Formats: sequence, C-alpha cells, structure tokens
Amino acid sequence: MSNLFFMKKEEKKNDSGLMDKIVSLCKRRGFIFPGSEIYGGMANSWDYGPLGVELKNNVKQGWWKKFVHSRTDMVGIDAALIMNPKVWEASGHLKNFTDPLFECPECHGRFRLDKLVPGVENVKVESTSATDDYKKEYYVNQKDLIGQGVIKEVIKCPDCRKVFPDKMKFRFFNLLFKTFIGSTEDAADVAYLRPETAQAMFVDFKQVAETSRKRIPFGIAQIGKAFRNEITPGNFIFRTREFEQMEIEYFIRENDWEKTFEYWHEEMYKWMGELGLKKEHLHDLEVPEKERAHYSKRTIDIEYDFPFGTDELYGLAYRTDFDLGNHAKASGQSLEYLDPETQEKFIPHVIEPTFGVDRSVLAVLCESYFEEEAPTSEEGKTEPRVVLKFPKWLAPIKVAILPLSKKEELAKVARPIYEDLVKHFICEYDETQSIGKRYRRQDEIGTPYCVTVDFETLEDKAVTIRDRDTMKQERIKISDLINYLKNKLGD
Ligand code: ATP
Repeated sequence: MSNLFFMKKEEKKNDSGLMDKIVSLCKRRGFIFPGSEIYGGMANSWDYGPLGVELKNNVKQGWWKKFVHSRTDMVGIDAALIMNPKVWEASGHLKNFTDPLFECPECHGRFRLDKLVPGVENVKVESTSATDDYKKEYYVNQKDLIGQGVIKEVIKCPDCRKVFPDKMKFRFFNLLFKTFIGSTEDAADVAYLRPETAQAMFVDFKQVAETSRKRIPFGIAQIGKAFRNEITPGNFIFRTREFEQMEIEYFIRENDWEKTFEYWHEEMYKWMGELGLKKEHLHDLEVPEKERAHYSKRTIDIEYDFPFGTDELYGLAYRTDFDLGNHAKASGQSLEYLDPETQEKFIPHVIEPTFGVDRSVLAVLCESYFEEEAPTSEEGKTEPRVVLKFPKWLAPIKVAILPLSKKEELAKVARPIYEDLVKHFICEYDETQSIGKRYRRQDEIGTPYCVTVDFETLEDKAVTIRDRDTMKQERIKISDLINYLKNKLGD
C-alpha cells in the first residue's frame, strides 16, 4: 500500500537483457502477451495465454491448498470487486492511498517523485495553502536537495531530457479507480474498484466468524483482482493497473502480534521456497515508520532480485485493529469478537501477509530461466538451449507425448498412451517438427518429462522418457509409465 513516499529501491541486478528475453519467450510460447494487440495494444495491459493461465492457476491453487485447505485455522472468501464506497472512506484509502505525482512542465510526462528522487521521503516538503487535500500542491527545491546530499546534480526529465525547474511542484495522486454505478454519472453514483482484496475480509469479518465458528486466532484468505491507477506502471507484469492478490487477514489478540508476525514471516519464506525462489535472491526490508502505510505499526517488504532491480515481491504488515475499529465506527455495527470461554469482548488485531499473484509468476519465471549447452543427437556436439526449470508442481504441462514421426503406426500406440496419461497429468501431444525442435519447445515451456514413442516401442512396448533438467533418457515399459511419472512428479 502506498504511503506518502515509497522506499528507495536498490537497483542491484540490472540486467534488462534478461528481462527482454523473458518477455519475448512469454510472447513466443503463449505464456503472457500484450492485451488488445490487434488494436495496437493497450499500455501495460497483459493477457495470460494458454500456458500462462496454467502457471498462474498452479500458483493460486498451490497457495490455496497450503494456506486454506491444509489448515484448520483458515477459511476463504470470494467477495465483490466493487464494494460500498463507504468502505474506502473508513479504510482511509480515499484520503491516504496516494503517490507523489510530478509532471514535467516541458513534455508533461508524469512521474512518481519518489522514483525520480530516491530519498525524497526523508526530506521536509513545503506545501501551498489550498484547503482541498486533492488540489494541494507541494514542492521541493532541487538546490536544497543537493545541499542536503539527497541528489548530486540537478535532475533531467527521463523522457524529454530537459532539466527540471529548481522548484519541483507535485501533488498527491489518489490511486483508486473511480467508476459510476447505474445510468447517470452523478457524484452520488461514484464507486471504486477495490485497490486491495483485504477490506472484504474486514467488512465480512462478523459473518465469517459466526458462520465458520472459528475461534481466534484464525484467518480469512482471499484471491482476486485489485485495481490501482498507478502513475508509472511497467516492468512487464511487475506493476500493472489491474493485478491479482492472494491475501490473508489473520485475527489475533493484541498481545500476540509480535510472535504471530514472526510466525507468518517464516510461513512466507516456506512458500517462497516452494516456488523455487532462492533465499539469496530474497531480502527483507524493514519499512521505517515514516514510509509505512497509514494502518501499519510494522511492515516488512519482502523483496526479490528481479532483472530490472531489487523490488517488492510480497508484504507483511501488522494492521493493528485499525480496519475493524474504523469499520465498526463508520458502520455503527459491533465488530467485536466474543470469546466463548472467557466471555471477553474485544476488537481483534490483525497480521496481514499479502502476496501478489503476478509478481509471484514473474519471480518464478526469472528464477527458472536458464540458457545452457545441451547435447545434440550428434556424438559429442552441443547446442544452446533455453529452459524454464520450474519446480515440477508449477509446470503448465507435466508430460509431453512425442511420437518420433507422424506415421500412423506410431500414432496408434502414442494416442492411447496420451489418453491414459492425461487422466492423471496435464499433457501435450505433439507430432509436428523434428524431435530436436520439439524437445527445445518443451524445454522452453518447462515441461518436466517428454515421452518419446519410436519404432522400437512397437516391439518392446517401452518408451523413452527424457528428463528436462538432466536431459537423461530412460527406457520405461508402457505398463509402468503412470507409476513412474506419479513418483517423479510427486503425485
Ligand atoms: P509497491 O510498493 O510495489 O507499489 P505496495 O507496497 O503498494 O507495492 P501492497 O499494497 O503491499 O503493495 O500490495 C500487496 C502486494 O500486491 C504487493 O506486495 C505486490 O505483490 C502486489 N502489488 C501491489 N501493487 C501492484 C501492481 N501495481 N501490480 C502488480 N502487483 C502489485
């Protein structure tokens, strides 16, 4: 959640070449491509294709299985995207959900001031005297910033390269997506697309607590879309205006907040391990008080070394009783929890682990991408290959069935194998192109196992299984195939 200013992001692994390769692979193979492309596209809108949707669904289903189905202290909901606008008033989003927006006076390019001037969050800013918060203008002087060592020299516009004026005026831009309900675009009909899934868990708290008969501590989880009118979307699916979140609001007694915070911190790392993200690519950023969202008493941003720099992957926040307390006040409804044993009544406090779905997909793609030399069919020769070494459970396609040629006699054996396997695993049947090209395609889409049916199969009733990572080939009896793959794929 945005506060007045964001933290400075350290650009560590600046490898835009790698990012370009990942974006291009995603388009080429049908993972993710620009949205509305036949109309010239739509800036920063991305569509998940046939493989991308499988990958993303695996992330979401794995998360739900781990955090909802495998726990007795968690239940899920799926709430409306457009909520009563009073929700956003009570939650503080109408007032506080802002980013500092600076517009270049020359080319009118719009930028986030905190991105243009890393460190500006620590500087005292002046403001004009307008009374309306949204119109109020703020300014920083470049000379002062240089004097204080925040910047070394005057800043130029990244777009038109003109030097910015000494007095840089900016305002706080609200990120809520406004829409209108019904047929008139009247102020009374204004509504907002939710900027986070979290608020539904607070607003529905009482309903869920009563109907699920859960006792504190317990959590409510949700996966769904969120919308933010970001000033500077970019870096592929890292920052978009429409994205998905997987969020947990975990309700506790106030005294337990520190140990619960630690507990969820560990759980988040376990999950990132399951996604295959290496620990050395993950960093905790303890968000200082000044930069924390308005509701938070402690926040850790978990950052990942993306190719374009180290930036936020997930967040963990102690939201106190801020949200439930405010909704109780604003709605006039009691959101207290009654302890059935002690008869004690109180407003629960909340620990919130939040996970971006799209950023998870992006991190998994970055972590899994390898370029390496692979042996060819010619003895001793190698050629470069690109391979996505997804953890097997995340791979969009688990097994590819590849008859060596299109000949009918092979199809007669290969089709029934496919039909058998597809009852157990997501499979692909591919008989086009040379076997080398088909292996390369399966490597690029991260398929853990290729099953090749050749002319020997007709005799020995066995197939060759090729392992994506080791590229080793094994001959396996068709009758043993399902058990072999179940074993390997951990099913
Ligand atoms: P950032 O600092 O990158 O703008 P944030 O601190 O505003 O993110 P939160 O409000 O904590 O993000 O949102 C929870 C999670 O939702 C983030 O950790 C991230 O994974 C995801 N997320 C937030 N904004 C976006 C976005 N514009 N596009 C894609 N994912 C996002």
